[in-house]
Amino acid sequence: MKMFGTNGIRGIANEYLSCELALRIGRSVGAVLGGRIAVATDTRVSSEMIKSALASGLMSVGSDVLDLGMVPTPALQHFVKNRPEVTGGVMITASHNPPEFNGIKCISGDGTECTPEEEARIEDLYETGVGCVGWREVGSVTRVEGAGDEYVESIVSAVDAGLIGHAGLTVCVDCANGASVNTTPELMRRLGVRAITLNGNPQGEFPGHPSEPTEDNLSALKRMVVDTGADLGIAHDGDADRCVFVTGDGRYVSGDVSLALLSRYILGRNGGGKVVVTVATSSLVEEVSEAAGGEVQYTAVGSPIVARAMRADRGVFGGEENGGLIFADHQYCRDGAMGAAMMLECIARNGALSEQVDSLPRYRTVKTAIACPDDLKRKLIESVSEAHSGERCNLTDGLRIDYDDGWVLMRPSGTEPKFRIYSESKDPETAERRSKEFVSEAEGILRNLSRASRTASPSSA
Ligand code: MG
Repeated sequence: MKMFGTNGIRGIANEYLSCELALRIGRSVGAVLGGRIAVATDTRVSSEMIKSALASGLMSVGSDVLDLGMVPTPALQHFVKNRPEVTGGVMITASHNPPEFNGIKCISGDGTECTPEEEARIEDLYETGVGCVGWREVGSVTRVEGAGDEYVESIVSAVDAGLIGHAGLTVCVDCANGASVNTTPELMRRLGVRAITLNGNPQGEFPGHPSEPTEDNLSALKRMVVDTGADLGIAHDGDADRCVFVTGDGRYVSGDVSLALLSRYILGRNGGGKVVVTVATSSLVEEVSEAAGGEVQYTAVGSPIVARAMRADRGVFGGEENGGLIFADHQYCRDGAMGAAMMLECIARNGALSEQVDSLPRYRTVKTAIACPDDLKRKLIESVSEAHSGERCNLTDGLRIDYDDGWVLMRPSGTEPKFRIYSESKDPETAERRSKEFVSEAEGILRNLSRASRTASPSSA
């Protein structure tokens, strides 16, 4: 049974994501990852409940539990990575999902997200069940303080803290009342940056705004940056593995733009190298990275896929266009506070964020989605690929067709009965025109496919 999505197991607490499920997953995780498992949570109302059930499952199969409390996902990953005796980790979080959701994300002994093979073994054992150990072998639970501080300390040593401190910067930090409420304000203090915090209480109902750091959700941050005369705004999602930015004049910086700016900066810092991004990333990143002496490698969508490719192919930097930033020198996972610190260093060295954003080439990316039943997703890709077989088709994830002046990506959503269609070009009219053409082509093919499947099985109508 498939339980893990791109970012762990997700569901509404006490509905799909029950204590019973968490207990049974805990047993399977203990059997797969072994002896000593670190667990942590974000700020959600149901987090303690899910964590306790999962910890019981782990202990019942003989695993010892290290309870790190409420810390960002990358702080848990950092803790696991730095301790050979810790064999794995579990983060209780639903990241940016609404407050009624929660989730379980499993971490391998090296601090990276579990591989699909490890997840499949956990799912198999969930199905078959895992036997408990005898009473003498039951595991223990130990509360461990300081994982957040250790993470902050590690970031301070990974950047030029002296340079940042001398720049005299002021930032507004929007923690979304999530897992960054202690760590990112403390990081700012340690870097000598004046920080004004917004939504900085660990309130798991997310009263400030939904925990996805989209432009619509960050209107208060944009206003606050302008009103306080701050140099920039920083916002995290619920578990603080992502970060996005607002310029000093109150403009939201898209994830593609911050990927491009940080890519240029890291390549300069490293004297070149490889940058890894997904096929859904703007060509802006490639143009800017190549001009900075780097090369870009593309992967399927999903931060664990990017992180694994970076490690295998020695990428220096990578990420996703949703604010997920991965720094090879720090750790192979999305690293929200590290992204914030590196952006501060980039501003301290190269000047105001608004000016850096304005210095970049402009692209227009049109993002739309059409309804598509799950059982027709594969056939739709096949039919569109066939229709465009003479063109530059790339099947890394969905179908991407590259043109001299842009590209189109058609990708099935992994979680919803939808098909996403992205179209990009430097010329806005070309991007819009191609978007419309591919939407209408896909809708036409879908009509034919549904007609054909109704004819094949008339009873299912
Ligand atoms: Mg997240």
